[in-house]
Amino acid sequence: MDWFSKSSVDDRTTMLTEPFVHEYVRANIWHLRGRDVDLLVDTGMGICPLAPEIETPAGKPLLVVATHIHLDHVGSLHEFPLRAGPRQSAGQFDSMDDAVTYAYMFHDLEGAVSKLPAPGWKAADYVIPPAPLTRILDEGDVIDLGDRQFRVLHLPGHSPDSIALFDEADGLFFSGDAIYDDTLIDSLPDSDRAAYRRTMQRLLDLPIRIGHGGHGPSFDGKRMREIAASYLRKTGEDDA
Ligand SMILES: [Zn+2]
Repeated sequence: MDWFSKSSVDDRTTMLTEPFVHEYVRANIWHLRGRDVDLLVDTGMGICPLAPEIETPAGKPLLVVATHIHLDHVGSLHEFPLRAGPRQSAGQFDSMDDAVTYAYMFHDLEGAVSKLPAPGWKAADYVIPPAPLTRILDEGDVIDLGDRQFRVLHLPGHSPDSIALFDEADGLFFSGDAIYDDTLIDSLPDSDRAAYRRTMQRLLDLPIRIGHGGHGPSFDGKRMREIAASYLRKTGEDDA
């Protein structure tokens, strides 16, 4: 069955998502074709195999980056050989503990899927296989695709391990759940609102051209500053 939807963003960027999973865990998956290496940002829920959907020329490496260790971003990570993820949660990828990925929240989520991926499938049986990292990413590290380079930014708040990738030459930004144009989540057990405010402050000055987030539609720099400013305003009022 066609579990994933795919859309072409431009001649070298494809976005995939899972239209039949609950909107809370319906994340964006980004495939960017580089000259020497392709990049996949996040891997969805892992309910159906993702790897067969990602076409790369024979022999060309595909580097997969997990922006953070939440279920809707790392479900299919184990299917790929080159797995990069944040320093802050690096050790957790070896076990993919339900308590860390929040997979347990999906087990009894009402309307977990709107269409069964396979006969007899049950959300209660959902597990994320371990996917030990083959590369650990820190603030300031560079991911080189040959014709473009992404700087790793550590942007905690939504989660302690949230990272994003920024091409300083072109302004292309893969933001994960650090910022996106939809309801931001800062109330999970490992969320940190003060850290999130510092992240938003930092994003106000980031000169992006276009941002592709972990959820919601893509955004330009003006829209990103609006989202960040609105978060700072809203949480500032709460604290006052
Ligand atoms: Zn998340």
